[in-house]
Amino acid sequence: VPTLYVVATPIGNLADLTPRAQEVLRSVAAICAEDTRRSGQLLAHFGIQQPLVALHDHNEEALAQRIVARLQAGESLALVSDAGTPLVSDPGYRLVRAARAAGIRVSPVPGACAAIAALSVAGLPSDRFTFEGFLPAKGSGRRERLQALAGETRTLVFYESSHRIAESLADMAAAFGADRPAVLARELTKLFETVLDGDLAGLLQQVEADDNQRKGEFVVMVQGAANDEEAQLAEGRRVYAKLSEHLP
Ligand code: SAM
Repeated sequence: VPTLYVVATPIGNLADLTPRAQEVLRSVAAICAEDTRRSGQLLAHFGIQQPLVALHDHNEEALAQRIVARLQAGESLALVSDAGTPLVSDPGYRLVRAARAAGIRVSPVPGACAAIAALSVAGLPSDRFTFEGFLPAKGSGRRERLQALAGETRTLVFYESSHRIAESLADMAAAFGADRPAVLARELTKLFETVLDGDLAGLLQQVEADDNQRKGEFVVMVQGAANDEEAQLAEGRRVYAKLSEHLP
């Protein structure tokens, strides 16, 4: 059956490309890639030579129908992103949606994902978590978003780049409290992999004290707000007071 394979690629260590991913990438008619140059290098490392189709946020909507037409004509294709799992803070959902709408088989070839890799070593509650991806780039938008998350009781997972890591940690400390437990995972599976834990103020301090701790790629994980009975009662009283303003 013609299939669109959604293939995870490494987030750093090339050995994390699974044998099945290699097999699938070798077998398809073409590979849709976010950045054909980057994916070309990865494929070359494994001796895989395949036609590449550039598929990124700016052309995805327009290109999706053409790719679906190829699948309908009987070809199997793969979708990869620059790193990790496609569609997770990466392009691909429009293509997957279009393929599914056309009745095409879409099949995952799972592998690395920075958020999941980070959670797996953080030691924060992970039975429930909420993936927030990238925060808004602008300071005001970022602070608003964080404020809206202050009462969230699940562990929060954010992606962050080196440019904004210190600013974001500072904004998180302001929104969630300086003593909120948090874990910072940097450069996972790479040479300078570091996992720092403590509270938000402590993490900010470590990042500010050492230039090297601001380099690379980050996952920031913040423990959820405490959800004790006391907090729930207080919230109940607050809602009741608000409602009673409108009662006759
Ligand atoms: N699709 C990818 C995935 O499955 O994780 C995420 C792509 S997103 C554009 C890139 C962000 O993921 C980075 O800014 C960083 O927050 C996170 N990331 C990617 N690789 C990482 C790594 N090796 N260590 C820590 N964070 C990483």
